[in-house]
Amino acid sequence: MFRVGAHVSISGGFSNAVSREIDFGGNCGQIFVGSPRGWKVNKPDDVSVDRFKKLSSEENIGPWVVHGTYLINMATPKESLAEKSMECMQREIISTSKLGIPFYVFHPGAHTGSGVDVGIENIAKRLSRLEIPDSVTVLLENTAGKGTTIGKNFSELSRIVELSDYSYGSLGVCLDTCHMYAAGYQFGTEESIEGLVREFDKKIGFQNLHYLHINDSKYDFSSEKDEHEHIGEGKIGDKAFRLFINHRKFRDKPMVVETPVDEKGFSWNIDKLKSLRN
Ligand SMILES: [Zn+2]
Ligand SMILES: [Zn+2]
Repeated sequence: MFRVGAHVSISGGFSNAVSREIDFGGNCGQIFVGSPRGWKVNKPDDVSVDRFKKLSSEENIGPWVVHGTYLINMATPKESLAEKSMECMQREIISTSKLGIPFYVFHPGAHTGSGVDVGIENIAKRLSRLEIPDSVTVLLENTAGKGTTIGKNFSELSRIVELSDYSYGSLGVCLDTCHMYAAGYQFGTEESIEGLVREFDKKIGFQNLHYLHINDSKYDFSSEKDEHEHIGEGKIGDKAFRLFINHRKFRDKPMVVETPVDEKGFSWNIDKLKSLRN
C-alpha cells in the first residue's frame, strides 16, 4: 500500500491532525507536538490521546511521525543550549510515545565552529543521555549541509549512531529528498539512484530507514540550500521523483510532503505523487 501524506497542524487538538490528513488525501502524516520555533511542548491529555489514536486507527491513517522543534541543537558546543535541547527532545519523545506514535525525527544540529568530529561526538553523547522508550524510534534526518550543520551525508549519520550508547532500533534514519539533492546526492537516473542505494545500504542499511520526506528543491544540485518546492516544480523534477518513489528500496517506506504552504496546498502534492506512482 502506498503510504503518503503531509505535515499537518495540530491546532484545535491532536485529532484534528487526522481529519486534516484525510482532507488532503493522505494516509500517514507528520506533526509537531509543540511550537516549531519555540521550546514549548504540548503535553497531550488522556482524552485527546484517545481521540487521536481512535480516529487514526478507524481511518487507517499511519504511521505518524513527530518532527522535533527547529531550535534543538544537539551538536552545539554551548552547554546551556545543549541542556535545553535535551530537555525539549525528552519531553517531545514522551509526548510521541503517549500518542502511540512510533517515530520522532530531528535535525542533528550545527557544530558552529567546533568541527564536524566534535559535533558528531556531542550529538552521540547527548542522545545517549535521553530516555528513549521501546515504542519509539528516534530518527536522524539528513540535512542540506548549510553552514556547519551535521548530517549532510550517510557517513555522518552512521557515525552518530556508532558513537551513541543506543543502537539501531532505538535510533534510525529519515531521508529528505530536497536535503539529499542540495547536499549533492543525485537520484534522477537509474545509475545515480543505484549508486545512492548502494551507499545507503553499506553505511546505514535499509532496515534502519523508517520515513521519507518528499520535497522538491528551489535551489540547484549541491547548493547546500534548504528550501522546499512543490513536487516536480523545482530542480529535482518529475523524472527523479518517479524513479525515487517507485524504487524497490523506497516504495514501501511511508512518505510525507513538507512542500510550501500556498494556494497549491498539500493535496496537490499528494495527488502529484499518486500520479507518479507505478
Ligand atoms: Zn526536518
Ligand atoms: Zn524534511
